[in-house]
Order: sequence, then structure tokens, then C-alpha cells
Amino acid sequence: MDTLVSLSKRRGFIFQSSEIYGGTGSCWDYGPLGVELKQNIKRLWWRDYIQRRPDMVGLDASILMHPTVWKASGHVDNFTDPMVDCLECRRRFRADKVDETPWVHYCAATKGNKFTIPSGEPCSHCGERRTLCPECGKGSLTPPRQFNLMFKTFMGPVEEDASQTYLRPETAQGIFVNFDNVAQSMRRKLPFGIGQIGKAFRNEITPGNFIFRTREFEQMEIEYFVNPRDTVEGKPADEYWHERWIADSLAWFQRYGLRAENLRLREHEKDELAHYAKRTADIEYRFPIGWSELMGIANRTDFDLKQHAQFSGKALSYFDEERKEHVVPYVIEPSAGVDRALLAFLADAYQEEEVRGEKRVVLRFHPELAPVKVAILPLLKKRDDVVRTAHAIRDTLAKHWTVVYDDTAAIGRLYRRQDEVGTPYCVTVDVQTVGDTDKGESADGKVTIRDRDSMEQVRVPIDALPAVFLDLLSGGSWAAVASRFP
Ligand code: ATP
Repeated sequence: MDTLVSLSKRRGFIFQSSEIYGGTGSCWDYGPLGVELKQNIKRLWWRDYIQRRPDMVGLDASILMHPTVWKASGHVDNFTDPMVDCLECRRRFRADKVDETPWVHYCAATKGNKFTIPSGEPCSHCGERRTLCPECGKGSLTPPRQFNLMFKTFMGPVEEDASQTYLRPETAQGIFVNFDNVAQSMRRKLPFGIGQIGKAFRNEITPGNFIFRTREFEQMEIEYFVNPRDTVEGKPADEYWHERWIADSLAWFQRYGLRAENLRLREHEKDELAHYAKRTADIEYRFPIGWSELMGIANRTDFDLKQHAQFSGKALSYFDEERKEHVVPYVIEPSAGVDRALLAFLADAYQEEEVRGEKRVVLRFHPELAPVKVAILPLLKKRDDVVRTAHAIRDTLAKHWTVVYDDTAAIGRLYRRQDEVGTPYCVTVDVQTVGDTDKGESADGKVTIRDRDSMEQVRVPIDALPAVFLDLLSGGSWAAVASRFP
């Protein structure tokens, strides 16, 4: 994780928020490359789930909502985590996560020596397990108290109870309260889904692990409405669609580069299920901190629509033409964190390898995720015609993709820099490209394309570049392209 944090800062992916003031705990700013990567994740998700599917539509609801929304949804009463306090150092922990960090232990069997023991393990000297505060190793922990994770705020200039509301802790409720608006305006028939990407806020007791758990984060959520009376392939529609969404979500992460061995499914135990859920399965990723939740896929039943109907007095149901009856749809919710997805893609892409006795750091991003698609590198920055040609190529390709020009180092160094930020292709312009009249050498009008993963190079006419990159950046293989330009 330290390697990723330091690479992220050094190469302009992610910076500590308000760093010049000493930083704000667990808040992060996405730098020039980070914002490209994040936009790419959101764009692919939107394209694959909203634009390409006939059964999906999008929404962008506001973050501040009517306060009764959170009463109806159960968040005011139930959106809590169990919190324990250390009576000695006063630090606070989430009771259900307290054994997930290494713990400090003063071991009686070794004259009170201090040890830091890996999470969940007993002391190898005395065999004791953690009972005291994991940070200071001295204080007892209080019994758990429920702590509400919603951020309170006030609407308008008067800070009084009547104007109190919350920053949304999930984007989902914006979808539920708009169910009827969307269904009516878009003439939707069940099953159909509404997707949304947006910020959510949770006053987490123990944020941390870089962008894994923060208090402000982004979610990509789908609420997929089904008719609970329907049967699909012999299964109740909600159960069928739940399975479909689990499979689709796993496949999506793999399509953009997460390795199968780093992904697994975890079913929630009955006592762990949220107050609204019939079944929830988490997709977990093997993060640098160990297996942890990347996204959750819940069957929220008809809980939310029924609650909002009751609290608002507006019917939120669907007229089943076939059965001639009103029904409240069940909803399947695939809910992913943008920031956690970004961390997973970053961790999976990161590789160190040895090339001709030197360490090469490379981010093997899927081309559609890579923040920069092509880097244009002039081999000789003293030659005006080389530099001019390189700029012209940059301008042409920048009409279609994120492209950079760099001439601030020797070529080997420039390649390493692009490898380290995951740029899939580099284009070099050299003297052969533009010709050398002094030596009587004519221009060949070709440039060299270098492939990040194989480090192979081919020479391609400048005119062919847009078509070649269109092919390479939309799924075409390097081998196939290289064979056309021997
Ligand atoms: P956790 O158990 O890790 O607290 P959760 O089960 O409360 O997560 P959900 O309510 O299912 O999370 O939220 C859906 C998704 O939103 C999560 O899978 C995760 O990707 C993302 N997410 C939730 N909380 C945070 C957070 N504090 N920081 C970053 N992403 C988050």
C-alpha cells in the first residue's frame, strides 16, 4: 500500500487533501492523472451499464434531500456502526473491525516487552489474544455503543432543528424517490434499472487505508426493479436477477483487468444483513490490506418503495398489465465504490520487473482505463522539424484521446516515466521521420510506436496513426497490428 500511496503522489494520481495545512484525515484529492483514471472508470461503467443496455436509464439526483427521506429509509434509526472507546488513550474503534488491525501487546511472559502482533493472531510468547486497546495496548475498551454515520447539516441561514438535514450516505435513495418519475416519463416496463454515479458521505469511525475507506467518496449504484410475482428460468424474478447481477459485476471487473484470483464472492450471514435485505453478496478484492469489500449486491426487496410510499403518502407501485393488479417492485442493488474500484485497478495493474538489469515499474492498465493513451516523444528536441512534427501528431491524436507530449529527458527515461503511469503506447519521432537534407537523406514520414507491455516497436506511417490507435484502443491486439507493419 505504501508503494501505491507514494507512486500516486509522485506521479500526480492522488494527493493528501489540504496537504499544505498538514492534511485532512482520510480526505484525498485526485491529481491530473488520478482524475483521468477515475473519469475512465465512471465512463466505462456508464457506457456498459446505462448506455448499452436497453433495460437501463440514468439519473443524477441531488445530494441534499428532504430529511424525511432518511427517516423513511431507516437511516436515522439504523445507519449505525458499533463504536468502542479506549478508556486509557480515548481512541475510538469500530467494534466489528477492531481485530482487523495489528495490535500492541505488553507480554507478561517476556517481562512486559512490547510487541506489535498481526491482526487476529495471538501472542506467540504467551498465547493471549487481544482484549485491550489495539493502539496503546493498555486501556480497556468500553462496551459497544451505536454511532450514526450520517453527516448532519442545515439548509438555509438558520441553524435550527427544523432545517436540519443530512449529506446522503448512499446515492440509492435519490433513485427510490424518483421511481415513479422515471417509470412514467420513460414509459418503463418491469424489469428495468436506474443507475447513478455520485458522491456519498459517511462519518466513518475509523477511516483509513488510503482511499479504501474515506468519509467522502463516490458510488456507482444501480437499482434494478423486478416484478416479484414473475418467474424467470424457474426462479423467482428477484432471485434470478440477483444471480445475474452478481455474475455481470464480477465479469465487468475482470474485463477491465482485475485478475480472477484476486476476486471472490462473500455471502452475508443472516445476522449481518442490513435491515432491508433478503440476501446480500459482496464482491471482495484482495487489496494490499487483505480481502475486503469492493462492492455489494443486495436484494432490498420492496422495503424502500413501501417505506417511501408510507411516509410520503404517494403510491410507488407498478401496474402489472397481464395480471391487472398493482405490485410494489422488488429491487436488486449492485453498489460499487468508485474510489475502491480505482484502488483495486491500481493495485492489480502495478508490477515491478527487471529489464536488462534495471528495475522497471509498470502499471498494466487496460487501455480504456489508462489515464494517458499515447505519449508523443521527439528523439531530438534540438531539431525544430522533429519537434514540430511531434506536436502536430499530438494535436491530431488529441482530438480523439488523452495524449501527452514530453521532451524533458532522454528516450529511455521518457519510456520508463510512461510505463510508470500505465500509458499503453508511445510514439517517437526521429530524424528518419523528417529526413536530413544536409546528409541528403529523405523523410520516410514514419514514426515508431512502442507497446508498453511487450516493449516491442513497429514503424508506422504518420497518416496511419489515427486508424492504428482506434484499433489498439478499442480492443485490437498489439500482435495483430504489429504484423501489419513488419
Ligand atoms: P463497509 O462494510 O466496508 O463499511 P458497506 O457494506 O457499508 O462497506 P455499502 O453500504 O454496501 O458499504 O456501500 C457500497 C459500496 O460503497 C461499498 O462496496 C464500497 O465500495 C463503497 N463504500 C462504502 N463506504 C465507503 C467508504 N467509507 N469509503 C469508500 N468507499 C466506500
